[in-house]
Amino acid sequence: MSVQLQCPNCGGFKTTDKMIHLDVATQKPITKLGGCGCLSMSFVLLGGLAQMIAPWASASKQNEPIALAILIGAAILLLVFYLAAKRGNNRDRSAAQKKHELYCDLCGYRWQWIEGSPYPNVVVNPDLIAKGEAQLQAQAQARRDAEGAFYLYQQRHKK
Ligand SMILES: [Zn+2]
Repeated sequence: MSVQLQCPNCGGFKTTDKMIHLDVATQKPITKLGGCGCLSMSFVLLGGLAQMIAPWASASKQNEPIALAILIGAAILLLVFYLAAKRGNNRDRSAAQKKHELYCDLCGYRWQWIEGSPYPNVVVNPDLIAKGEAQLQAQAQARRDAEGAFYLYQQRHKK
């Protein structure tokens, strides 16, 4: 999500946004169909199939091209299934409700918002924003200090 949503509690724009796709009918999250998982799964399936027909294929020279054709056919079938599933998954995701689980980095406020529903009323509180900014800066400084200390430690113990 490229647009930063405004915190209703302080009016700041430093928010952590996690978007979940919800099925409109069941309200259950739709996870993205992973490419790598499906690919490795296909290899496992094909490997299993190859092992199953290997004894039969090695029994006679004539069987070899048939076994090869079966494996290639299975691979194509898996690809077709995967593409169909992927298309269905993409369609589900584009039709889904987009729910945002938000966290304000400045004031720590948590809230949820579903795209298309009215956005919560925003109350701008400059004091909270200033406090949050100062806290974030202090955290960043502490991180830099820790990194600097670690660097010095490494330099001293290098030989
Ligand atoms: Zn806030």
